[in-house]
Amino acid sequence: MPQEWALRALRPVGPALDFAPSPAETYSRFARICIREIEDRRPRRLRRFLFVATRKIRMEIRRDPITQSWVVVGHRESPETDSCPFERPAIDKQQTILAVPAEGPWQVRVLPHPEPLYRIEGEPGRQPDGMYDRMGPTGAHEVVVETPDHNKRLSQLSDDEVDRVLSVWVSRVADLKKDKRLKYVSVFKNQGELAGEEWPHAHSEITGTIFVPRRIKYELRAAREWFKDKERCVFCDIVRQEEKKGKRIVDVQGDYYALCPYAARVPYEVWLLHRRHNHLFEQPKAGSNRKQLAALLGRVLRRLEKITPAFHLVVHTAPSTLSKKGELAGYWKTLADDFHWHIEILPIVEKRSKSYSIKETYFNAVLPEQAAEQLRAIDPNS
Ligand SMILES: [Zn+2]
Ligand SMILES: [Zn+2]
Ligand SMILES: [Zn+2]
Repeated sequence: MPQEWALRALRPVGPALDFAPSPAETYSRFARICIREIEDRRPRRLRRFLFVATRKIRMEIRRDPITQSWVVVGHRESPETDSCPFERPAIDKQQTILAVPAEGPWQVRVLPHPEPLYRIEGEPGRQPDGMYDRMGPTGAHEVVVETPDHNKRLSQLSDDEVDRVLSVWVSRVADLKKDKRLKYVSVFKNQGELAGEEWPHAHSEITGTIFVPRRIKYELRAAREWFKDKERCVFCDIVRQEEKKGKRIVDVQGDYYALCPYAARVPYEVWLLHRRHNHLFEQPKAGSNRKQLAALLGRVLRRLEKITPAFHLVVHTAPSTLSKKGELAGYWKTLADDFHWHIEILPIVEKRSKSYSIKETYFNAVLPEQAAEQLRAIDPNS
């Protein structure tokens, strides 16, 4: 029989339990732990356990029926310690997905995310919820530790070291795309507190999702429409026009261009594109010298960091076409010709809310032409 204190411990989390649907297995484990804690009369531990358990149960992916975008809902536990998880001995206790170089001390290391948004186990079944759609949080979530040096930012690494980070991004994307359940693999990096970085140690993240993120879907649709109209890739057209005009180009290295997009959403937004057409970031074509991309990325980041230390970086590549099931089957027929991988960098200048969307319309106070001019004038190596 539960004691009075046990009922008290249950009360604060009661409402959350009501609506949390979950597999029977979770509930039986949950019940076993509750019983043990009640028997041992440990109310504080029980309360903490219930708090964490109900949070875990509530993680799921829901679809907005209007915008059709998938949203991960639920709470993540925040890491308990203040110490860096990417230092020894903590890092050695974690599972390593990939370490580069394979022999000797690591320079870049990939780990499972300690508090993942998505988990690799499970089948991605879509369940109806009345008129709505929802799915379990199946997917992959990895952390790429970009350097063993706690005090170095990506921008402070040598071209060879940045190239190594890029090669790790490439091999993780290629590897995760072999998983037929995953529809899209994202590479992104949040640097700086304003960008919501999770640890100060230089890192990026890889997620494999069972849906295509909304922004990518928009880009794919737009690129496909453009191709249908003109039989040309819109990104190739952008590079050609910007090359001719020059005023929004920030920097060039070989065939790689860094430019401020015509309708930049935020001040100093920069895209990195390869001049030669390729829809897959993870499958470089012969002659695409990635070291040039590494050098360009390093310089662009050093320029941007003279303006602000915080930014979001995201690699946009084509979605996986392995899955023949679902909404995207047969959708991307011209994908290889119409889409073009690129990197987007969205710096966060102070007062983020002002420059970001006001009711979904972007307001950017800095003209992209001025931004490019200013960034060009900055010496990335000073
Ligand atoms: Zn560290
Ligand atoms: Zn192209
Ligand atoms: Zn993009």
